[in-house]
Amino acid sequence: MPPRYWIGVEAASICEATGLSDPITGMQNLADRLLDEGGWSQPPAPPIVLASFQGVHDVRLATMQCAGRLVYRDDHLIIEINEEHSQGKRNFTANHEVSHTLLPTYAGQLVDDLETGTFSQGSEEELLCDIGAAALLLPPRWLRSHAVAGGPSISTLLDVASVFESSLEAAARQLTHLDCWPAAFICWEEGFRKDERVAKGQVMMPGFESFGGPRPKWRICRAYSTRSFHHFIPSNKSVEDTSLVAACCELDPFTWGIEDFDRGNRQIRMYCENYYASYRKGGIVRRRVVSVLVAAPTQGGQPTTPSPAQMEIL
Ligand SMILES: [Zn+2]
Repeated sequence: MPPRYWIGVEAASICEATGLSDPITGMQNLADRLLDEGGWSQPPAPPIVLASFQGVHDVRLATMQCAGRLVYRDDHLIIEINEEHSQGKRNFTANHEVSHTLLPTYAGQLVDDLETGTFSQGSEEELLCDIGAAALLLPPRWLRSHAVAGGPSISTLLDVASVFESSLEAAARQLTHLDCWPAAFICWEEGFRKDERVAKGQVMMPGFESFGGPRPKWRICRAYSTRSFHHFIPSNKSVEDTSLVAACCELDPFTWGIEDFDRGNRQIRMYCENYYASYRKGGIVRRRVVSVLVAAPTQGGQPTTPSPAQMEIL
């Protein structure tokens, strides 16, 4: 995360409460204190119990548009979570709401979060609560041994998401944050180049229908790199239809091997493992491939084939 100049009262209050100068480290420290208070030493720490230590009466599922909220029911502060979301996303959201109550400035206000886990730079409070949620769900001090033992692989990513009961992308983000090895996790989704996107209401010129429009390609949607991975990953860059990434599908969900990736100004040769992990959002199934990229090894070995994962609902 790039360095930022914090201006809000939430960040200042965290620094004051923890004696730390960096609000991010401070937020992680507050999360660690809560885990210690609950006496946990291994994952998963149930969000409902973490919430109870913060005076939250219950964590409930609710039918709603937003991801989560802090509300009063019968004069009790409770957390409501979107019932449509899968367990990993629900856990992140519940911990995000718990993190609101960890802020020293929190005084029982109502909170309504349309989204969680975006790590948006637009709101300091929401960013800090996403950082708190990640620290509660995937505590670095517990995660490190899994990362070191498993190494950078799809199997490690899926195992961590399973053991810590998180989404794949929450696991990818936190694993790369530890910087145990030089690697990057990339999420590919099908899409168009900016100049190929069809504007709303645009129709094809008469007589040209048979030529069709541009076809979508697998493109980089989100990337999570460790600090020691020194390759820039350009957003929206595509791979060819013949690539190992594009070969991933429902019937063949795991591919791996050495591949040349187009970085824009040059090709880089990397070892990649690719896993087909479509997800559902807003009632729409979105096709997605998650890759891990590491420097090409001089001698190869057979990677561990990951166990099948259930479709995520985010
Ligand atoms: Zn929030």
